[in-house]
Amino acid sequence: MKIGGGNLTVTGLVYHPTYLKHDTGWGHPERPERISRTVLALKKKGLLDNPKIKVLTPEPADIEDLASVHSKEYLEKIRLVSISGGALTPDTPLTPDTFEIARLSAGGAIHAGKAVAENDVRNSFALIRPPGHHAGRDYGGGFCYFNNVAVMIEYLKKNFGMRRFMVIDWDVHHGNGTQDIFYKDPSVLYFSTHQMPLYPGTGHITEIGEGEGRGYTVNLPLPAGTPGDVYDQIIEELIVPLAEEFMPEMIVASAGFDAYYGDPIANLQFTIQTYINITSRLIELTDRVCKGRLTMILEGGYDLEAVPKIITEVVSTLAGLGNYEIEDSHLPIERGKIRIVEDRIRKLKTILSDYWKTLR
Ligand SMILES: [Zn+2]
Repeated sequence: MKIGGGNLTVTGLVYHPTYLKHDTGWGHPERPERISRTVLALKKKGLLDNPKIKVLTPEPADIEDLASVHSKEYLEKIRLVSISGGALTPDTPLTPDTFEIARLSAGGAIHAGKAVAENDVRNSFALIRPPGHHAGRDYGGGFCYFNNVAVMIEYLKKNFGMRRFMVIDWDVHHGNGTQDIFYKDPSVLYFSTHQMPLYPGTGHITEIGEGEGRGYTVNLPLPAGTPGDVYDQIIEELIVPLAEEFMPEMIVASAGFDAYYGDPIANLQFTIQTYINITSRLIELTDRVCKGRLTMILEGGYDLEAVPKIITEVVSTLAGLGNYEIEDSHLPIERGKIRIVEDRIRKLKTILSDYWKTLR
C-alpha cells in the first residue's frame, strides 16, 4: 500500500458543480437542490473555507473502472440510451447528460476513497449524485445508474491492494445492487439497515451471502416508525463486534439520509442527532480497527430542509469540529418498534453465529 505524507487531521469533501446538471424531471425527489442547498449550508457555516476540510474535485470514472463492477453491455446501454433519451425504470430516466454525470458520480466516490487510502485526508464525504446502491452488475433503478461504492471498492482493491472492506448502508432503502455485486465475495462485508416493507423489497434477515461470501452479507430490516435511538444498540451488538472480528482496511458508508423522520418517501424516525451519533461511533470504531479510514458516500435523502443540515453536521463531526445548535424531532419514541428490532438483532446473531465467533 502506498503511504503518503498525508494530512491526517483533515476531512475530504468531494463535490463537483456538474452534479447539479443531472436532470431527473419535474417533481422527482432526487433533484439538484439536495446538493445545491447542502453546499450553501456548508458555506454558511464556513466549512468550505475551514482548514480542517479539503474540498476535492473529482473526475469521471474511467470506463475500465466502471467495467470492474458493471458488464460492458450494461455500460454501453446506459451510454446509448442517454444519447437517444429514455429510462432504465420509470423513476430512473436517461437524458443526454446522464452517462457523463453518472460517471462523474462514480469518479467522486473513487476520489473520496483514494484520498483516504493514500492518507491525503483522514476521512471523507462524497457529496455526489446520482446515487448508486440500487445499481447491480447489469441493472440500475431507484434513481441509480452505476454503483458508486462498488466501483470505489474495486478501484482501491486494484490500485492500493486493499483486501477487506466493510460497507455500512444506513440508507432507508435496501442496497440491493451492492448486496448482489458482493454476494459471493468475502472481501466485502455488507451490512444494511433499511425499512421493510419498502422499495426494493430485498434485504431479509435470511439473505446472508452465498458460497465463499456466506456470512458476509448482513441485513437488519426495520419496521416503519423505528426511532433512531435504536442505532446505538445496532452499533454495539452488530457493527462493532463484526468490524472487530473482520478487521476491514476501510469502512465505507452508503450514507443515505432518507431514514430521517421528515423524509417524503419513507417512514423511519431517525433525527439529525441519530446521524451525528452514528458518525461519532464510526470515527471511534475506525480509529480502533482501520487507522481512522472512513469514507462516506451519499446515497438518498429527500427532505430538502433537513438533508443540508444533516450533512453539515456529519461533515463537521467527521472533521472533529463539533456540532451546531440542532432543532430536532421530539417525536414520542415508539418502544414497541424498538422491541421488534431487538428481537431481530437476536435472530440475526443466531443466523450468523456459524460465521462469526463474536456473535456466538
Ligand atoms: Zn434511499
